[in-house]
Amino acid sequence: MSRIGVFVCHCGENIARTVDVEAVCAAARQLPGVAHAEDYPFMCSSPGQKRMQEAIRDRNLTGVVVAACSPHMHETTFRGAAAEGGLNPFLCEMANIREQCSWVHSDPEEATLKAGEIVSQMVAKVRFDAELDAIKVPVTRRALVIGGGIAGIRASLDIAKAGYQVTLVEREPSLGGNMARLSETFPTLDCSQCILTPLMVEVSHHPNIEMLTYAEIEEVSGYVGNFNVRIRRKPRFVLEDCTGCDDCTQACPVVTPNEFDMGLSWRKAVYIPFPQAVPAIYTLDAAACVNANLEAANGRYRVLACERCALACAPRVIDYDMNPELIEREVGVIVIATGYELWNAAQAPEYGYGRYPDVVNGLEFERLLSASGPTLGELRRPSDRKVPKSVVFIQCVGSRDPEHGVAYCSRTCCMYTAKHALLYKHKVPDGEAYVFYIDIRAAGKGYEEFISRVMAEDKVLYLRGRVGRVVQDGDGLVVYGADTLSSQPVRIRADMVVLATAMVPAAGEELGRTLRASTDEYGFFQEVHPKLRPVETMTAGVLLAGAAQGPKDIPDTVAQASAAASKALEILASPIYSREPTVATVNTAACSGCLDCARVCPYGAIESREIPARAGTPPRVVAHVNEAMCEGCGICTSTCRSRAIDVAGFDDEQLFAQISAVARLREPAKVGAGGGSDQG
Ligand SMILES: Cc1cc2nc3c(=O)[nH]c(=O)nc-3n(C[C@H](O)[C@H](O)[C@H](O)COP(=O)(O)OP(=O)(O)OC[C@H]3O[C@@H](n4cnc5c(N)ncnc54)[C@H](O)[C@@H]3O)c2cc1C
Repeated sequence: MSRIGVFVCHCGENIARTVDVEAVCAAARQLPGVAHAEDYPFMCSSPGQKRMQEAIRDRNLTGVVVAACSPHMHETTFRGAAAEGGLNPFLCEMANIREQCSWVHSDPEEATLKAGEIVSQMVAKVRFDAELDAIKVPVTRRALVIGGGIAGIRASLDIAKAGYQVTLVEREPSLGGNMARLSETFPTLDCSQCILTPLMVEVSHHPNIEMLTYAEIEEVSGYVGNFNVRIRRKPRFVLEDCTGCDDCTQACPVVTPNEFDMGLSWRKAVYIPFPQAVPAIYTLDAAACVNANLEAANGRYRVLACERCALACAPRVIDYDMNPELIEREVGVIVIATGYELWNAAQAPEYGYGRYPDVVNGLEFERLLSASGPTLGELRRPSDRKVPKSVVFIQCVGSRDPEHGVAYCSRTCCMYTAKHALLYKHKVPDGEAYVFYIDIRAAGKGYEEFISRVMAEDKVLYLRGRVGRVVQDGDGLVVYGADTLSSQPVRIRADMVVLATAMVPAAGEELGRTLRASTDEYGFFQEVHPKLRPVETMTAGVLLAGAAQGPKDIPDTVAQASAAASKALEILASPIYSREPTVATVNTAACSGCLDCARVCPYGAIESREIPARAGTPPRVVAHVNEAMCEGCGICTSTCRSRAIDVAGFDDEQLFAQISAVARLREPAKVGAGGGSDQG
């Protein structure tokens, strides 16, 4: 016989302001199987949990319903409390009377009725709950980190220093990401490379880190604790014994735009991206090399080069026959740290980006400011290499603009624009700097002070308003905008315009599909819960770090990378990983073998399995769920026409019990009111 306990939380005022919690409690006492009901201001607090544990023991409860917030918020908390009280944790259910009731209704009477219905459903369900045990899977104690920017570097070092092996995969020839492109960093104005390159070197020397640059993920299979990863390493056509003497570059006759300098300088076809690159090995860019380059013969590649680089190379490390390499690794966890790129400002034609050479984006301006950039740190404008005597900075280009760009704030632009204006004034003290802004967002530590300093001491003129258009006029530019504070139109002659364009994801849906990690509407990787599980994805064991999850500055990126590393270590630290048992199971007797379930499963957790012939029955194919990969989403269950799949904890009996409970409350005459309690 069921003896259910119902615990109704006030959530301070969050629930109690709208829902009459005492009435909900009183109604719960009348439900079939309810042996105990009480309310408490904060059920999730330590005294609240203690009350629940005492009631489980004292009243011999066989199941509990906590009427409080969303299960996303506190299901784990209450299941843990139930377990400490001596109950199987899966005999604890949550009735969400906050997000689904008190927060969305204003009429107390209606809200209280609805809360009562939600509680009655969960009471009906918990009566059919079965005791479940956690699923245990073995763990391969190695991590894969994808992306070698500051996020990937930090996460790799943290995991490696804790004693676990890491494979770090970076698609470019060097580690560093966008931070390597920056000149100085707000708010402290440290030289970006000076703080980054020691970490890059540390990664390359760390005995626990395998660094695979110029490589990308081709395929991932498996599940938390046991991922199989196929990595494709592109051929550099230069062996690792390269001494970095630069003789090949001197000999190479080809020039092509330098992507590290955002196309503002040139490089040779055989090159090193920047002097502090890690690894310090040259790369022959086959797409830029003379003679149309790659010839595929018998499935192998050969570069048809002029061979001047090979002839100039004393250590003989140029190898035109190098092929892509496929590397397989088994890992227990995966950290995605693929970062961002900048929105293409040519999509906002009014600013003239892509048409006028002196209209540049933020990263291009960083390279023009940088001592290792195309102008060696002497600020010169791209068109004629003159020192710009006036610069207009425009914020929110593409950001906060759902019509033309993206709706979100890119979070770093207010700060880096202030930094750009300040560095400009340091380099050109008699120059004029103007910033067009919508409003200033400077929430980080020391950030507001930094902006105030730029406005006051460095005499940068901030204009609140939007720019309508930028036009070329002779050898200069004219910026037409509006100052909304003085309600005046503004016209400024400028030598250069710098656009603070939106940060958008560098790798999105395709990598997401490979990793079975979902992305948000903009292509950033999606976390499970922004507050409670900010570095985990819906796929267990796949974690997030840095700007791959959303625009971030360096302090937030580094903090999140360390958080992702600590989550990775939580899994790697034990040889066995325990998972929730609420996964799908197939009733093979009912399964028709159509495998529609396998086609819709977003986690690739369902495969076909043959049942051998038995006396009188031929062999047949049925669906089989890999319980270590299943996330219990239930899509398979709703797709199955034979009703052969159930998710543990959500079977038909439980769901129909929930529906009947509400029907009983609404139509007592027809269905028969549930009245009466067996609590004695
Ligand atoms: C103009 C500008 C100025 C800025 N200035 C500052 C500043 O002064 N201070 C500050 O705090 N922040 C600043 N920022 C923000 C800073 O750049 C970011 O916080 C930081 O670079 C984020 O690091 P990340 O590692 O997450 O991403 P990234 O730096 O973008 O690194 C991601 C790495 O992943 C690699 N990658 C991408 N896809 C794949 C794939 N599929 N497989 C393998 N590898 C992949 C990329 O090649 C790259 O190396 C600035 C940003 C901009 C745009």
